[in-house]
Amino acid sequence: MSDTADRDPEFAFELRVCRWAERAWHPDGPRPAIIARQLGTRERRWDTVVVEVDPEAFAVRHALSTDGFDSDLLRVVRHAPAEWAWYRDAIPEPDFPWRHVVPVVHRAAGRGLVEKRRGSRNRVEYRRITPYPDWVERIVAIENKPNLDVSAARALADQLEHDVSRALADEVWVATEATGRRVEPALLEDLPVEVGILAVGDGSTEVLWHPSKLTPDSDDARRRLVLAERAYDRGWRSYVDTMRPDCRHFELDRRGMALVPRCVAKDCYQSQRECAHSCPSFEPEPPAWRMKGWPIEGGPGKRVRRILDDRRERVRERVGESAHESR
Ligand code: SF4
Repeated sequence: MSDTADRDPEFAFELRVCRWAERAWHPDGPRPAIIARQLGTRERRWDTVVVEVDPEAFAVRHALSTDGFDSDLLRVVRHAPAEWAWYRDAIPEPDFPWRHVVPVVHRAAGRGLVEKRRGSRNRVEYRRITPYPDWVERIVAIENKPNLDVSAARALADQLEHDVSRALADEVWVATEATGRRVEPALLEDLPVEVGILAVGDGSTEVLWHPSKLTPDSDDARRRLVLAERAYDRGWRSYVDTMRPDCRHFELDRRGMALVPRCVAKDCYQSQRECAHSCPSFEPEPPAWRMKGWPIEGGPGKRVRRILDDRRERVRERVGESAHESR
C-alpha cells in the first residue's frame, strides 16, 4: 500500500518521521533524543518535536518518574530545596496566589517526588529527594509535508517564518518524502533560509538544505522545559489514545522502520480522525479474543497499547544508557 492510498498521508508520514528521528537523530551525527508529536504552544503546534538530551541527566530524570510533570508540578519539583524550607521561601513568587501552590506540594509528596512536613507556625515545609536534573539540551521542531511542492512550501512559509522569528526551538526543519528528484529552486525560495529540509525515505534520509541555529530567548527557558516535559510524557505513540485499537479491524502494520495503524475493513492507513467513536465500520473485538491467551483484563486493543508503551519505555531506557556507552 502506498502513501497515495492513505486516507491521511501526513499522519502515516509523520509516524515514519518520528520513528526515523528516534532511531537516527541528528542528520549530522548521533545525538541522544526523545521524540514527540503534535506539541507546541497555544499559538503554534509542531508536527514532530525532538528533544535532545544530556543522557546522564536524562537517566536521573527518568528515575524520578516515568510520567511527565505539568507546569505546576515542575515548579515545585524543580525548586525543591535540599534542606527543609517553607515552600514560599523555596519557590520563586508565582503570578497567581500562593494558596494554589500548597496542593501541588502535597501532590508532589504523594508521588514520592519530595518530602513534606508541618514546620513552625504550622507552615508547609518540603525538601527534595533527588535534585531535578538539567536534562534538556536542545529542542528541534519538524514540520512534516510528504508532498512538498512549491504551493505547499508557499502555504507553510508564514508558519515557518513565525517559528524562526519566535525562536522557541533551537532548529526548525521541514521533512518531506524522498523522491530522488532534485529540489526545485523555486521551493527553496519560498521557505525561510533558516529552515532545514530533510528528505525521508523508508531506508535513508538526505539533508536537502541545512538549517541555521536559532537563539532561543533565555526568558523562554521555563516554557521550553514545560514543552520538554510534555514531550517526555507523551512521546509520539500516544496517538493510540484517541484511536480505536479495541476495534477488530485495527492493526499495526510495519511501514519501513515504523509501526503504523492500519484498518483492515477499509484497507487503508486510516486517519486519526476517522478511527474514532463515530466510525460507522467500528466493530468491537470479539469477547473470545480476550480469553485466548490474553490476560482477562486485556484483549488485542490493550495489547496494542502495551506494545506501544513498551517501545516508548525501551527507548527511554536506551537514551539514558547511552551515557555509559559514550564514556
Ligand atoms: S473500522 Fe473504523 S474504528 Fe475500526 S479500525 Fe477501521 S477506522 Fe478504526
